[in-house]
Order: sequence, then structure tokens, then C-alpha cells
Amino acid sequence: MDRVKGKVAVVTGAASGIGEASARLLAKEGASVAVTDIDDRNGKRVAEEITKAGGVAEFWHMDVTREQEVEQTFADVFKKFGKLHILVNSAGIPGYPKPTHETTSAEWDRVININLKGTFLCVKYAVPYILKTKEGGSVVNISSMLGLIGGEDPVYHASKGGVRLMTKSDATIYARDNIRFNSVHPGYILTPLFRGFSSRHPGGPEAFFKEFEEKIPMGRLGTAEDVANGVLFLASDESSYITGSELVIDGAMSII
Ligand code: NAP
Repeated sequence: MDRVKGKVAVVTGAASGIGEASARLLAKEGASVAVTDIDDRNGKRVAEEITKAGGVAEFWHMDVTREQEVEQTFADVFKKFGKLHILVNSAGIPGYPKPTHETTSAEWDRVININLKGTFLCVKYAVPYILKTKEGGSVVNISSMLGLIGGEDPVYHASKGGVRLMTKSDATIYARDNIRFNSVHPGYILTPLFRGFSSRHPGGPEAFFKEFEEKIPMGRLGTAEDVANGVLFLASDESSYITGSELVIDGAMSII
């Protein structure tokens, strides 16, 4: 309990999956949480459920690709809570698993804008408020296991590889300000995003999940909570000397 007590956190993509689980866990451990997403209905639900459970949370509609909306949201969050310590960049979309020469410029721009530029914009507008707070901070960027090793989805992997290196650059730039930057690299995690792929499988969702479970050394898919536990550690002062690192949460999938 109270592992991030007194801290203020912004979580993007917090209406669903890894962002939602991270927002819930940070609030449970004492942080005031700005739940942000483009999905207003589920974002409001998450914030309301956190509040009902005794936590502190409020929902903000924030599309990470819209610069003015991002700027305004961070200003509003700071006005509301008076501080900012933690940013979790979880908003993201899958890419297009097809060869590069068949990928359109519009598809490329869409994925890069949300996954990579969205992370940049949120860091850009969070940092001044973390600096103003003068209590140090932690930014946790959700990359992917595939951002380390690549694969057959060039634009997604480029976006997540970009997030990984941007995290390391920011870790060095802001080290003297005591703002830590770390990336998290989830493997196959059972969230609405991952479930979305299962409908494409000829054998249906069960066959799809079984195929992955057989591939993963730990023999199961990850949960959003598995990832949120890593996010909480990196967001808390327990990881006070950890910056520029990459936390792989994949049941050993990327090793084989
Ligand atoms: P998810 O359940 O789909 O949650 C992502 C959330 O981000 C959704 O609520 C989505 O809203 C929102 N979002 C999409 N575009 C946005 C935008 N422009 N601005 C703000 N919010 C936006 O996905 P997840 O599985 O939790 O994924 C979270 C992160 O983990 C992503 O960055 C993903 O790439 C990464 N990741 C996931 C896995 C996995 O296996 N699940 C593995 C590795 C990495 P809508 O639903 O309305 O689009």
C-alpha cells in the first residue's frame, strides 16, 4: 500500500488494457490519477470506479496526436492537482502486418503519429510541470517486446523501437533534474487490442490464444496487471536509480 502516495500521475490510453490496469494500480497505491483517452465512455467508467473504490481519479478526453489538446490537458491536470510526478504513455494502436512496399503512407503516418509522436507530445507537455513540481518524476513509456526484436509489422516495430530510443535520450537529458525515463516491453498481453487479432484466426479466438500459449515459454499470455506491476515499480521511488532501462515483461517470449 501507498507505494506512490502523494504523487500525481497522468496515464494515456487509460480507458482500456495496460493503461487502465496501470491507472487502477497507481490509484490503489496512493497516487492521484488523470485517466486520459479518446474513449470517453470507458475512460469515465475507469475514473468513476477508482473513485468509488476510495482512490483519486478524474477523466480527461485527450487524443495524444492533437498537440493543443495535449497541452491543455497537462495544464488542466496541473491546475487541478497542483503537482505532476508520473507520466505513463500507454496509448497505442497495432500496425499493419504486411511488407513495407505494400504499406501506404497514410498507414505509416497513422501508427507513427499515435505511438511515437503521441509519446513525444505527452513528454513535451508533461516535463515543464514535473520540473515546476520540483520533486522529481518518472516517465514510463510502453514500447513492446517487438520494439526490441522487430518482426513482420514494419511500422509498428519502427514506432516501438523509436519509443525505446527516445526513452533513453530523455533519460540522459533529464537525469540531473531527477526525472527518470524507462521503457516497458510487453509480450503478448490479453487486452482488448490483442483480443482484436483473434477474430482473424480461422479457428476462432480459442485456437488463436492456444497457439500463442504454446509458443510462450511460460505457457500463458500476460495480463494487463502483469504489466501494470512493472509500471508501478518504475513509477515509484523503489526504482530511484533506474533510468534509461528497458523492462521486458513477456514470459521469456523474446528470448526464444
Ligand atoms: P488497448 O486495450 O487497445 O488500449 C489502448 C487505449 O489507447 C484504448 O483505449 C485506445 O482507444 C486508446 N487510444 C488509441 N488511440 C489513441 C489516441 N490517439 N489518443 C489517446 N488514446 C488512444 O491496448 P493495450 O493492449 O492496453 O495496449 C497499450 C499499449 O501497450 C499500446 O501502446 C500497445 O502498443 C502496447 N503493447 C500492447 C501489447 C499487447 O499484447 N496487448 C504488447 C506490447 C505492447 P480506442 O480503443 O478507442 O482505440
